[in-house]
Amino acid sequence: MRVNISGQWQPFRADVAPYMVEPTDMTASRRFRGLVFAGPSQSGKTMMLQTVACHAIMSDPGRIALFQMTRDAAALMEREKIGPMIYNSPDIRARLASGRGADTIFQKLFTGGAHLTLDWPTPEKLASTTVRILLATDFDRPAWGNGVIGDGDPYTQMRARTRTFLSRGMVVIESSPGAPIKDENWRPQTPHDCPPVAYGVLSLYPGGTRGRWYVPCPCCGAMFEMTFARLVYPDSADPVEAGEAARMRCPHCRDTFGHELKRELNASGQWLHEATPDESGEIRLVTVDRPELRRTDLLSYWLDGASAAFSTWAELVTAYRQAEAHFDATGDEEKLRATVSTGQAQPYLPRSASSEMEITLQGLKDKAQDVKSQKGVAPSWARYLTVSVDVQGTYFSVGVTAWGEGGRHQPIDRFEINTPPAGAPGADGRTLKPFEVAEDWQVLVGLEDRIWPIEGGEWGLKAVSLAVDMHGGGATTDNAYRFYRARRKAGRGKRWYLTRGHGGLHHVDRVWLRAPERASGKRKVASDIKILNMATDRLKDVVAASVRLLDDGQNYCHIPGWMEAGHLTEFTAERRTAKGWEKRPGMVRNESLDHLVQARAQHIILGAERIDWTSPNRHWAILSADNEFSVPLSLAEADRPDRTDQQPQDRSATEHKSRGRFGFSARKGKWL
Ligand SMILES: [Zn+2]
Repeated sequence: MRVNISGQWQPFRADVAPYMVEPTDMTASRRFRGLVFAGPSQSGKTMMLQTVACHAIMSDPGRIALFQMTRDAAALMEREKIGPMIYNSPDIRARLASGRGADTIFQKLFTGGAHLTLDWPTPEKLASTTVRILLATDFDRPAWGNGVIGDGDPYTQMRARTRTFLSRGMVVIESSPGAPIKDENWRPQTPHDCPPVAYGVLSLYPGGTRGRWYVPCPCCGAMFEMTFARLVYPDSADPVEAGEAARMRCPHCRDTFGHELKRELNASGQWLHEATPDESGEIRLVTVDRPELRRTDLLSYWLDGASAAFSTWAELVTAYRQAEAHFDATGDEEKLRATVSTGQAQPYLPRSASSEMEITLQGLKDKAQDVKSQKGVAPSWARYLTVSVDVQGTYFSVGVTAWGEGGRHQPIDRFEINTPPAGAPGADGRTLKPFEVAEDWQVLVGLEDRIWPIEGGEWGLKAVSLAVDMHGGGATTDNAYRFYRARRKAGRGKRWYLTRGHGGLHHVDRVWLRAPERASGKRKVASDIKILNMATDRLKDVVAASVRLLDDGQNYCHIPGWMEAGHLTEFTAERRTAKGWEKRPGMVRNESLDHLVQARAQHIILGAERIDWTSPNRHWAILSADNEFSVPLSLAEADRPDRTDQQPQDRSATEHKSRGRFGFSARKGKWL
C-alpha cells in the first residue's frame, strides 16, 4: 500500500505513527470482534482504516463497509483518500475489477472477492446485509445519532451485521471523544478508567481492553503516558509564547523535556492494557499478547493528543490558551470544547453543565442587592441599548438591556404591551393579539424612538437595535415579515431583527443572518429578509455564565434591584444538561432569560464583542452628538413620551461604587 506523504506516493511507513501499528495489526486477530480507537483528529486514525481495507482487499477478501459521517463525507473520502490510494498502489490497482458497477464512488469490486463500499449511518444501512469488516469514522459526531440510530445504539447494530462471520467478523470504530462528561465528581477506579459519557468511543472504551500508549522517560527510563495534562508551560505568557515554552513532565522523576524528543520516544513506545485483577484485586498493566489481559472481545485504545505524531505541543497549548481567552471574553465555550475533544482527545466537561454553574434564586437576589438603579434608567456606564421582544398570545413582552465597555450589561426595563394600537381592527376593548392581527404589531414602532435616560441626567439612549421573536401561534411569522417589511420601507429596517432560535449544541456559529429556507409547507419564502438566527443553547450558556459572574469585569451581568422575584425566578426556569437547556418541571415563564439571549444575539451581530474600548470605532458605542442613538437630555425632555411605569428619579441612588478595573467613575462625564 502506498500513502501520500507531502505530495509523494510512498510505501506506507509505520514508524511515522508507531502507535497505529498494534491496532492495525490487531484488526486481523481472530480473538477479538471489535476494536475502538479514541484519539485526536491529527493522529493517523483514518490511515489505520485505509490500511485495514487494503489488507482485506489484498489477502483476506470479503465485504468491507467503510462508514463516513455523511454521504458527502463518504464521497470526499473516495475522492481524496480511497480513490488515489487505489490508483497509486500498483498491487491494489491490478486487482480492481472491470465492468459495470465495479468502480463507482460508493462501491469498489476487486478480483478475488473483495467488495468495498463507502457508506454513512442510516437505520437502513446499519440494518442491511452482512459485512465481514465494518469500519466507522468520527463515531462521536452527531451524524452517529449521539448513541441512537433507528431502534438502537449503532455499535450493537454494527456488531450484529458481522456476527455471521463469527471470528472473522470485525467492527472497527474511531473518533475523537465528543460526548460530554456526565459526572463532574468522577474519580478513576482502575489504572485506565475513563470518565462516564453517554455515547461515543469513550462509552465503549471501558468495556474493552483499555489500552493506553506509554513511552520511556528520557531522564529516568520509567514508562509513562505523554498527556496534555502533563505539559507544563508558563501561566502568564501569551498563548503563542506559552505554546513555544511547553515541556512534558515525567510523573516519576518530575524532570521535563522538550517536543523534539517526542518522535524518538514514540518509536520505543508500547500499548499497555489492563489485566484482570490478581488475587489481591490489583490491576496491573500488560501488553496485548499476555494471557492475563482483561477478558473481553473488544480491543480498546485511547491515545492522548500530546502523544499524536501530527500536532505539536506548541499547537495544542496555544489552541487551548486561545480558547480559554475566547471563553473569558465571550462566555462561549465551543472553541474550548473543540480543542479539548479533537486536539487533546479528552472528553469535555461543559462548564455550563456543572452544578457550581447553576443559576439560583438566592444568587440572583444577592447580586440584585448591590444594584440600586431604578427601573427604566440606564446605569452611568451604559453606552448603548438593545431591545428584546418576546411574542405571546395576548401581549408583547419587552426587555431592555444596557451595554457598557467589555460586554458588561444590565436589564434596565421590562414591561408588557397588551393594548392594540389605535386604528387596528376592533381595537376598542380587546386585548392585543399578535398571533392573529397583523396591525397589532404597529404598537412596536413606538419603541424605536423611546429614550431611556442614563443615570446622571445628561444623556439618554435610544435602542441601537431591536429584536422580535418571529415564532408563535397562528400567523405570527407572516405578521413578523409584514411588520419588518413595513419598517424597512420606513427606512428603519437596519435597526430591526426578526429572530429565530435553534436548539442543540453543535451549531458552528452562535448567531448568523440568513433568509428563511424554502419550507416544505405552503408559506411563501421571505427571501428578502435576513433572519437573525440564534443557537439558543450556546447563547444560554453565555448568558448564564454572565449572570453567574460575581466579579465585575468582561461580560458581567448586573442584576438590578427592581427586578421582582417573579422576574428573577424566570432566570432559573431552565436547567443545563449535557444535551442543552431544558425547562424545569412546573416552570412556565422564562422571559428574563429569553430577553438576555436576544440581547446577546444583537450584541454579537452588531460586532460589539470586537470593539477595542481604548478607542471605540463604532459611533453608536460612544456618547456624543454624532451618535444618532445618544441624546442630550436637555434636548430630549420636550418630546420624551410619557411613561406610566416610570418612578420619580432619585439621583442620590444612582451613584455607583467605583468600577475599578474599567475606570468608569473616573471617566464619567469626559467621553467627548
Ligand atoms: Zn522520568
